[in-house]
Amino acid sequence: MASTGGVPAGSALAGQARGGTPGAALAELLAGNRRFVSGQPVHGHDVTAAAATASGDQQPYAVVLGCIDSRVPLEAIFDQTFGSICVIRTGGHVLDRAVLGSIEYVVEVLGVPLVMVLGHERCGAVQATVDALRTGRRPPGSLAHLVDRIAPAVAEVGVDDPQVLPVAVRRHVARTVTTLRADPRLAPPVTAGRVAVTGALYDLATGEVALLDPPGR
Ligand SMILES: [Zn+2]
Repeated sequence: MASTGGVPAGSALAGQARGGTPGAALAELLAGNRRFVSGQPVHGHDVTAAAATASGDQQPYAVVLGCIDSRVPLEAIFDQTFGSICVIRTGGHVLDRAVLGSIEYVVEVLGVPLVMVLGHERCGAVQATVDALRTGRRPPGSLAHLVDRIAPAVAEVGVDDPQVLPVAVRRHVARTVTTLRADPRLAPPVTAGRVAVTGALYDLATGEVALLDPPGR
């Protein structure tokens, strides 16, 4: 088990969210991913109650919106401990009003300078959307809500594109980033450079997170 050594929140940036820069927050997230990939996490295995209680008040420096996919646990792949990042997960990292409100809370109330949207390859929600558009059959229940929100990205790529799934994942991330940057509450701090909204992709094979910049084709 990795030790947290009694450091209150474990992260180099913990407690520095207010006034922290988007660039420093992004560097910290990516450094955590490198620790994860290299098999040398500082926090990755310390999911004990002791580590949780040691974090004290939360002072996160980033919020990550990711997919519900069980292979992509966000705190683990960024090697983050309790209190360091806020995590929102929905099928296909779909943005709805509850998600948007959560992100606004994190940015405005907690003072977090970085919003990351993280897609991943072989995403089941994007595949379900491809299937729905190919067959013309909208899925039953509220799954249709996810499909409806992902469909524009898939349609932009084209369901007949042989690479539709990986390309649509990238496009869906890019579209979500664009939507967040244009949000009335988020646009002013983004324009002022106090907050960054960044898209990224998780590689299931290597565990690596790659920034989606410039946005996918
Ligand atoms: Zn997914």
